[in-house]
This record gives sequence, C-alpha cells and structure tokens, in this order.
Amino acid sequence: MQKTLARFEEYRELVKTKASKLPKKHPRCLADGNELLRFYGATITCSLGINGVSSLCVSDKCCVCRIIRDGFSTKRELKGGIGVFTSSTSARAFESIEVFEENPDTRKALIVCRVIAGRVHRPLENIQEMAGQSGFDSLAGKVGLYSNIEELYLLSPRALLPCFVVICKP
Ligand SMILES: [Zn+2]
Repeated sequence: MQKTLARFEEYRELVKTKASKLPKKHPRCLADGNELLRFYGATITCSLGINGVSSLCVSDKCCVCRIIRDGFSTKRELKGGIGVFTSSTSARAFESIEVFEENPDTRKALIVCRVIAGRVHRPLENIQEMAGQSGFDSLAGKVGLYSNIEELYLLSPRALLPCFVVICKP
C-alpha cells in the first residue's frame, strides 16, 4: 500500500512535469495532475467484509485484495487494451464488472479510487488509435450531462490509488 502511494505520487509529478512543457497550459494538470475521485468495479472471492473480516487474502483470483495489496497492474486491469476503466457513478462501475467463472463465492465490489486524470482526451472516437498516441494521460468514454466525464480510461495503472472498498450484496 505504501509502495502504491509512492508510485501514485511519482506519477502525479510526472504528469505535472509533462504538462509544464506543453505550449497550451492546463491549470488543473499543473496544480495536482487533475486528480479526480472515481469508482472501479471489481470482483472479490474471499470473505473480506463478512462478519467483520478485515484482513486481505492472498489469492490471485481475488481482484479486490490483489489491487489493495499491489495496486493496479497494466496486464490485468486493461480494458479492451485501452486503459483502466473507471466511472464517476457507482452504477456504471458496477455494470462494468465481469464475472468470468461461476463461483458462488464471487461478490461484486466497488473500489473508490483517487485518480490522476492528467490531460483527458475527449470525446472518445477512435479509441484504439488514440491510446497509442502520447500526450494524453486518460481518455473519456461517455460524457454525461454538463460535460461530466462518466467513463474514464486511465492509460497508466499508476494513475490510480485505491482508497476504500464498497462490497455489494450478492
Ligand atoms: Zn480477497
């Protein structure tokens, strides 16, 4: 967890440095790397949260514990090869959870994360093409009312810091 926090703060500095070199200034990027609060949907396979269990398991299949232990990883959390998918609404994040195996113990959970959005590319048109291009730190998916970014893909797993977990009833 300490390592994840250090990695997150390093990433923020990187985004700020990158933003300071751009001809067009993005005040939010320069100030704090454009930090936002987002929901990430994940599955949980252990008994965390049941009857007051608060210790993390060591199973690789338990996404929630793995993410809290080791942070997000590029290989696992990359959605459609674009980035780590997050949402501004719990409902959308919940919808995005994919349960791969029929395991009766699998529960759904939401991880509330601090994210460094950096420069956001929007709207998301040709995402596959855009993801490879440098200069942007995240991509907006669906943009809702009042141009609120409902869906946000973080291009680096270092841009997310898990803060707390909400476990949903099965
Ligand atoms: Zn677990």
